[in-house]
Amino acid sequence: MGKGVEKRIVVPIKQVPDMDKVKFNKEEGRIDRSSADTEPNPFDLNALEEAVKFKEEFGGEIVAISMGPSQADSTLKEALARGADEAILLSDKFFGGADTWATAYTLSIGIKKLGNFDLILCGEKTVDGDTGQVGPEIAEILDIPHAAFVSEVLERNNDSIKVVSDAWGGSYVKKLEFPGVITVTKDVNVPRLPSLKDKMAARKAEIKLWGLDDFPEVEKDVVGIRGSPTSVNKIEIVPEPKREGKIFRDDISKSVDKLIGALKEDGVLNEVRLD
Ligand SMILES: Cc1cc2nc3c(=O)[nH]c(=O)nc-3n(C[C@H](O)[C@H](O)[C@H](O)COP(=O)(O)OP(=O)(O)OC[C@H]3O[C@@H](n4cnc5c(N)ncnc54)[C@H](O)[C@@H]3O)c2cc1C
Repeated sequence: MGKGVEKRIVVPIKQVPDMDKVKFNKEEGRIDRSSADTEPNPFDLNALEEAVKFKEEFGGEIVAISMGPSQADSTLKEALARGADEAILLSDKFFGGADTWATAYTLSIGIKKLGNFDLILCGEKTVDGDTGQVGPEIAEILDIPHAAFVSEVLERNNDSIKVVSDAWGGSYVKKLEFPGVITVTKDVNVPRLPSLKDKMAARKAEIKLWGLDDFPEVEKDVVGIRGSPTSVNKIEIVPEPKREGKIFRDDISKSVDKLIGALKEDGVLNEVRLD
């Protein structure tokens, strides 16, 4: 458990492009982020909502943290409007091109710089990179426990949390002592909408900006592209199979027979018992 007097909950939030509109540079294996508007990663809003619920019971503060370009401040302002007390943007040319490990490392040094914390609440994954690796990697780097794919919070306590974690085809009840990390699915809650007043206040709020110089102990080659053990070489979008329809125009009993035959042929039905 964090040793501070107050509870501190950290919510890493990524700014993502609108995935319905964004274009991919398939050959270079990257997303053309200038081709679409941006928004907070939807799963991270569930994480933030969970943080707000925790704060409502136990007090303390919520810190939203993001790694990204300077434009990511709009995502952090939205986080402030939705209940975060403080927002930090980790932004530096040396942080660019990070894979999941370098992203988790950079977020971790940012979180450590805050001092004590109790709970880190991430989304289960992002809608652009979609790896689901960053939350568990933060836990590894900070050497604290984690529970991933949390679909329900069963108990919130002052120094622990009990959750349902949906992983490996099953559901597990896990109790996590603080400090720890959880990553949440969309089923965990329904994020409330910010009020107009909160939105207006957030517009004027200050976002703390931390670059590599704010971490004198950190070398350039452990962050961003230089600190990334993996790189995406190519993106391939696998086309979804087209939906097909069949119409049977005989009388009803013949049509039913044909329908059953067609369903068997397609492997939808194995055996039909009509008793
Ligand atoms: C199509 C595509 C495929 C990719 N494949 C890989 C791959 O296989 N391996 C690899 O190492 N990298 C990959 N990347 C790069 C990866 O997207 C970035 O490293 C990214 O910074 C973090 O990974 P993610 O988006 O998958 O996050 P996830 O692990 O899916 O995110 C989980 C949670 O971590 C937090 N989080 C993630 N990123 C940030 C951030 N920048 N700021 C604040 N919080 C954050 C959020 O709470 C989020 O909900 C890929 C990128 C793209 C576009």
